[in-house]
Amino acid sequence: MTDKRTLLDQVPTGIWLSNTSVDAITGKTFEVIDPATGDVLAEVADGGREDALAALDGATEAGPAWAATPPRERAEILRSAFEEVTRRRDDFALLMTLEMGKILSESVGEVTYGAEFLRWFSEEAVRIAGRTATAPAGNGEIVVVKEPVGPSYAITPWNFPLAMGTRKIGPALAAGCPMIVKPAEDTPLTMLLLAKVFADVGLPPGVLTVVPTKTGAAEQSAVLMSDRRLRKVSFTGSTGVGSLLIRQSADQVLSTSMELGGNAPFIVFDDADLAAAVDGAMAAKMRNGGEACTAANRFFVHRGIADRFVPALTARLDAMTVGPGYDAGSDLGPLINGKQLDRVAALVDGAVADGATVHTGGRRIDGPGFFYPPTLLTDVPVGDPILLEEIFGPVVVIQTFDDEADVIARSNDTDYGLASYFFTNDLNRVKRVASALEYGMVGVNRGVISDPAAPFCGVKHSGLGVEGGVDGIDEYLTTKYIALTPTSV
Ligand code: NAD
Repeated sequence: MTDKRTLLDQVPTGIWLSNTSVDAITGKTFEVIDPATGDVLAEVADGGREDALAALDGATEAGPAWAATPPRERAEILRSAFEEVTRRRDDFALLMTLEMGKILSESVGEVTYGAEFLRWFSEEAVRIAGRTATAPAGNGEIVVVKEPVGPSYAITPWNFPLAMGTRKIGPALAAGCPMIVKPAEDTPLTMLLLAKVFADVGLPPGVLTVVPTKTGAAEQSAVLMSDRRLRKVSFTGSTGVGSLLIRQSADQVLSTSMELGGNAPFIVFDDADLAAAVDGAMAAKMRNGGEACTAANRFFVHRGIADRFVPALTARLDAMTVGPGYDAGSDLGPLINGKQLDRVAALVDGAVADGATVHTGGRRIDGPGFFYPPTLLTDVPVGDPILLEEIFGPVVVIQTFDDEADVIARSNDTDYGLASYFFTNDLNRVKRVASALEYGMVGVNRGVISDPAAPFCGVKHSGLGVEGGVDGIDEYLTTKYIALTPTSV
C-alpha cells in the first residue's frame, strides 16, 4: 500500500476538466479534513458557476463522439477502469478512510462494491436493446431504439465516496452519456482519484469531469440545471436537497434519478434464528458506522425474545473498539464531521431526557476527532425524534411488538421507503411481510442487501428511479420510436 503522504500527493486537487486538473476560476480552495484527527488532508479547488459551465462546455463537446463510440469500446474503457481501481484497491481504501473515517476493512469492501458497478455496466454497455414489431394495421413497422439521454450531472454524498459515484458514472458512460460529477465537500478526493484513473485508461477528455465545491453547490446546480444543454440529473443525498432538485429540474424538464434518505425498520419475529438476527443487526446498523441510507434505524423485536436479543446485541456493541479507521484493531471509526456528531449526540440526549434506557454508550467521546460510541437504547417514547429521523450514526433504538399486523403498520408509518429488514423462519410470513412492507428493498434474514447486480431503489420520499442491476442503465437512455414504412422502389 502507498503511504499516506505519497498517496495524497497523487490525488488531483483541482477541477478535473478535459482530463487535467486545473485551478478553480473562482481562485478559491477548501480544506478536506481527516475526521479522526481534524487534521487537514488537502486543499481542493472550490468550483463556482464558471467552473460548472466550463465542465458543461466540455461535456457538450465530448458527448456526440462518446455516444458514437462503439459500445464495445465504451465497455472496454469501463472494464479497464474496473481493473485499475481493483489493482489500486488499497490506495482507494486508504483514501476513503482518510477523508471519510470508516474502518479500512469497510473501505476495502466499498472498493470491491464500487468497482463492480464499472464491471457490471461494462457488461451492460453491449446489451442496449430496442425492439421491432409489425404495426397492427399492417402499414409498416414499429421500430424502438434506445439513445443516450445526453450530458448528465451527478451529485454524490460523502458516506460512500466511491460507490455512490460509480453507481452513476458506470451506467452513464455505458449508455454513451458524458458525466459531470459534483462530489460531496467532505470527500472529494476519492472521486478526483477515480477521474484520474479513467483518464489513465483512455477515457476521452470531457467525458468525465469533476467539479468539487464547498461554497457553491446550490449555485453550481442551479446554473447547470437551468442550461438547456444538460439533460439529466442524478442525485444521492438527503430528501430535503432531493426535493429541491426535483423542483429545480422542472424548468428544463430534466430526467431525474433520486436516491434519498431512509428510515429502515429491522424486525425480529419470535421464530427468528436469534444468532443470525444479531449478526444481521450488527451488519445493518454498524456497517459504515451507521452512516448509510440503508442503515437499520428502528428495531422492532418481538416481546417474546427481546430479553434475549437486547443483551446479545449489547454485548456485541460493547466489544467494539472505537478508533481511527486506519488503525489496526478499530471496529468503528469517527463520524464524518462535527455537525454530524452534534446531531447524533442531540438525538440520543433528547431520547434519554424523554425517558429512554441506555444499555451501552450514550455519551460523545472527547476529541480530537468526531467519535461517538456504539449505543443501544430501549424505552424510547413513541414520537421521539430519534424514531422519526435518520440517525446516521452507531445508535441502535429497540422497540418491542406483539403481533405482525401491528409491526407492519408501525414499520410503514414513515414518509421514507428505502431499505427494510426482517428475520423469521416462517416461509408464509416471508411472503406476507415482504409484500406488505412499503419499501423499495426488503432484506429477509440478512442485514446487507446492496448488490451491483440488483436494483437499488426507494419509494415514497426515498427516491425516484433505479440504480444498479439490469435496470440501472435505463436511467441514462431515452426511447425513440421510428414509424417505418418501407417504400417500394
Ligand atoms: P446532502 O443532501 O446534504 O448532500 C448530498 C450532496 O448534495 C452533497 O454533494 C452536497 O454538497 C450536495 N448539495 C447540498 N445542497 C445542495 C443544493 N442546494 N444543490 C445541489 N447540491 C447540494 O446529504 P449528505 O448529508 O451528504 O448525505 C446523507 C444523506 O444521503 C442521507 O439522507 C442519506 O440517507 C442519503 N443517502 C442516500 C442514499 C441512497 O442511495 N438512497 C445513499 C447514500 C446516502
